Amino acid sequence: MKWTGYTHQWMYATAQHLSKTCMASCHTPEDVEQANTKGFRSFRTSSLLADKLPSEILCPASKEAGQRTSCARCKLCDGKRGPDDKRKNIFIVMH
Ligand code: SF4
Repeated sequence: MKWTGYTHQWMYATAQHLSKTCMASCHTPEDVEQANTKGFRSFRTSSLLADKLPSEILCPASKEAGQRTSCARCKLCDGKRGPDDKRKNIFIVMH
């Protein structure tokens, strides 16, 4: 089974289990750092492409990445499978 999931609950200790299925919805680089420290991969929006961090990749469905896929096919936003899951955080420019 494949899915995508996003949560703003990542900052709460009681939501730690969600890291296995959901991305941490983040708004700032500080959010990303905190979410990653808590074991979450992150999904972050910003108005500027230049804001993308080295730990983030552009959503491949975004305009800036050439709209190469869709969420239904991509499914990169499915949380963190465990400590060995080295997939990057996701970044997208808001329009
Ligand atoms: S297309 Fe973008 S938003 Fe959708 S699952 Fe992939 S990375 Fe995440």
